[in-house]
Amino acid sequence: MSLRLRLTLLYSALTGGILLVFGMLIFGLVSILLIDQADRALLNAAFETIGRLRVNPDGELVLLELLRPSPMTEVSVLIVAGEQRKVEYRTGFFLGVEGLLPLPNGLLEQQVFADTSIQGEHLRILNVPLQAGGRRIGILQLAYSLNQADAFRSTLFQIIVLTAVGSVITAAAASWLSLDRALAPLAAATKTALQIVRADDLARRVPLQGIADDEIGQLVTAFNETLERLEQIFNMQQRFLADVSHELRTPLTVIKANVALMRRMGRLDPESLASIEEEADRLTRLVGNLLLEAQAESGQLPLHFGIVELDTLLLEVFKEMRVLARDRVHLKITEIDQVLVRGDRDRLEQVLINLVSNAIKYTPEGGDVFLSLTKVGDKARLLIRDTGVGIPKKDLPHIFERFYRAEKSRHRSGAEDSGFGLGLSISKWIVVRHGGHIEVDSIEGQGTTFLIYLPLLEGTKQEPPKQEWE
Ligand code: ADP
Repeated sequence: MSLRLRLTLLYSALTGGILLVFGMLIFGLVSILLIDQADRALLNAAFETIGRLRVNPDGELVLLELLRPSPMTEVSVLIVAGEQRKVEYRTGFFLGVEGLLPLPNGLLEQQVFADTSIQGEHLRILNVPLQAGGRRIGILQLAYSLNQADAFRSTLFQIIVLTAVGSVITAAAASWLSLDRALAPLAAATKTALQIVRADDLARRVPLQGIADDEIGQLVTAFNETLERLEQIFNMQQRFLADVSHELRTPLTVIKANVALMRRMGRLDPESLASIEEEADRLTRLVGNLLLEAQAESGQLPLHFGIVELDTLLLEVFKEMRVLARDRVHLKITEIDQVLVRGDRDRLEQVLINLVSNAIKYTPEGGDVFLSLTKVGDKARLLIRDTGVGIPKKDLPHIFERFYRAEKSRHRSGAEDSGFGLGLSISKWIVVRHGGHIEVDSIEGQGTTFLIYLPLLEGTKQEPPKQEWE
């Protein structure tokens, strides 16, 4: 059942239900008032009639001459006297019947109101036993016709039912039509989603014109944003697949060529073996990075936290990286404070190696790479600054995305140290998991600065030795 039909049925049922309950309440109240009105008329007539009755010294009922037909014409009066219940006086309805109207057993001896239907007449009856000196001398019966009240109640009932039915039909029609308009954007979204599936085209969006800023408008906006993100991820993966295939092909071609060469030579050639080993290392690095990224993404990369002397770690990385920089790039530590943080030493080392090796990699011969470690407020700040090629402005916002490589880096085909655009995304993940953050600033052609902020271990003292390492 469609949402539109379900909501329409719900609204109609609610409207009908509320009106019916309300109508029944009014009907019940009116019925009570009508009976009450009849009872009052009967009581008044009873008092008036009894007021005109007398008892003679023999204890018999005497009707005063003054007794006239009751002015309350809607009330019929019957008076019977003695054991024989001889009719002494009657008016209205009682003129057409034998004598006392039958009441359930025993009730004739009591003052009681009763309902009865006789000769097509619905009557409200007041039965009053008449006594004198502790003796029963007669019975007074009064009757009030409820036919008019019944007709009124039946008309009222019809009005209530007709109003309820009319309201239900109106509510159903109004809901059906207004829901058609309100749900139209949802239908459009469904159509677009189906078109995307059928045409395999993530570039489509649900049109937003004419959609109010309500829940459905927000849903459509969120849907479009989801599509936007999906398109980005899809494009990124496409690009990544193209990159990985390209990067895999180069070492494999080199390995195959070297194997073919050695086969032709009929012996193991040390140069070819070294080349094969180098390419195999590169492939291992790629697979390792991919695995790490996948683990980080799925939350399965465990971090082993402990106390880390960041200054010692930086010095170790510095020594290691100096080998990589050789004489090509000048690697220096400009400032180093003693800093303790809580973290995973190996992972933090990996971050430093990633950033420092990038700085060396993207700095041309003769350039500089500066490293520093200082305390800023309650944070440790690691700085890695180079005087290299820099990162174009348009690439800067994407630099930490997975598989993202700036245009220039992507075309470094075959270069042995060209990466896969995973280093920075893994580094950022590690820093964030340490409660820190990472910033980048770069001017194309002039250089790049990466800043890593990590929370200091509480109780660490500021040590100000400033040394220049070269
Ligand atoms: P890669 O392995 O390709 O270097 P990274 O994630 O480490 O991957 O870096 C992503 C991209 O950021 C690089 O491809 C490069 O374009 C750019 N980049 C990173 N560091 C630097 C830097 N110090 N100088 C210039 N560009 C850089």
